[in-house]
Amino acid sequence: MKLTVKANAKINLLLDVTGIKKNGYHSLFTVMQSISLGDTVTVEKTNGNDITVSCTVPGVPTDSRNIVYKCADKFFQYAGITENKGVHIHIDKVTPFCAGMGGGSADGAAVLVALNKIFNTNYLEKILCRIGVKVGADIPFCIVGGTALALDTGAVVAPLPDVEGYSIVVVKPEDGVSTKEAYEAVDALENMKHPKNQEMLEYLADGDTENALKLCSNVFEQALEVPGRVDIKNICNNNGAVASCMTGSGSAVYGIFKEKAQAEKTAEELKTKFTNVFICTPEKTGVEIISITE
Ligand code: ATP
Repeated sequence: MKLTVKANAKINLLLDVTGIKKNGYHSLFTVMQSISLGDTVTVEKTNGNDITVSCTVPGVPTDSRNIVYKCADKFFQYAGITENKGVHIHIDKVTPFCAGMGGGSADGAAVLVALNKIFNTNYLEKILCRIGVKVGADIPFCIVGGTALALDTGAVVAPLPDVEGYSIVVVKPEDGVSTKEAYEAVDALENMKHPKNQEMLEYLADGDTENALKLCSNVFEQALEVPGRVDIKNICNNNGAVASCMTGSGSAVYGIFKEKAQAEKTAEELKTKFTNVFICTPEKTGVEIISITE
């Protein structure tokens, strides 16, 4: 059996660090959005017991360090499957990495959804989230997808009304950001200005998407200076973006537009300065099964 799955990347519409837990992890308050930019992940049952991984892009590990390998391993452990568990996972990589777009987490989510079908385990979404969070904090969101609030380290996910009908431009500057260094920079901030967390939730719950998007904000922008960030935001804002913000701990920056034509014009302008410019739309799911072959 072979499943081909689309693994949608994410952007953080709002990202706040609300505290540090006893175990040293950060507590977050974040509103996340799945986007149509994403990898295509193929999971195929093979003979034997090995998990093998291949990827179209060099630089992504294809051994037990890959998030998809870790997810498959955790899935088999949880399910108590020890025999005849061979799978080959192929990642057709589109999502930029070290970008704050959750590319690896989306691949991991895709693999959990695929294995749940291939091995007929019929686990509910919340069980897949419980397996996924052991590998990465963003994986539960990538399984749930759409527009959602994530709390704690990302383990608590609440779906929100969908943001739809917008065009999104995403730019990944040449330099990536190390997540570890980004959190150290946030910890060193003396007077962090918190976003309007509750207000954004209220607007979204009321279906007032435009006012919600006007509150897009990311505390990492106060802590880090990512080359290109200010320039990208200025270009987006000058072209009438409803919102423009960095996603995750960077380095990608997005602009959200009401009209597709505005997004296209902005993307053309950005392409004169940056190599990695993408146009996409909000998605209602994080993982989408494209095909199943027996
Ligand atoms: P996040 O938004 O979660 O911070 P990110 O932008 O840092 O994600 P990822 O694509 O998740 O980027 O990958 C970060 C690192 O994880 C890469 O440098 C890579 O070595 C490693 N990695 C492991 N598995 C994967 C995968 N399936 N896809 C991409 N990178 C992976």
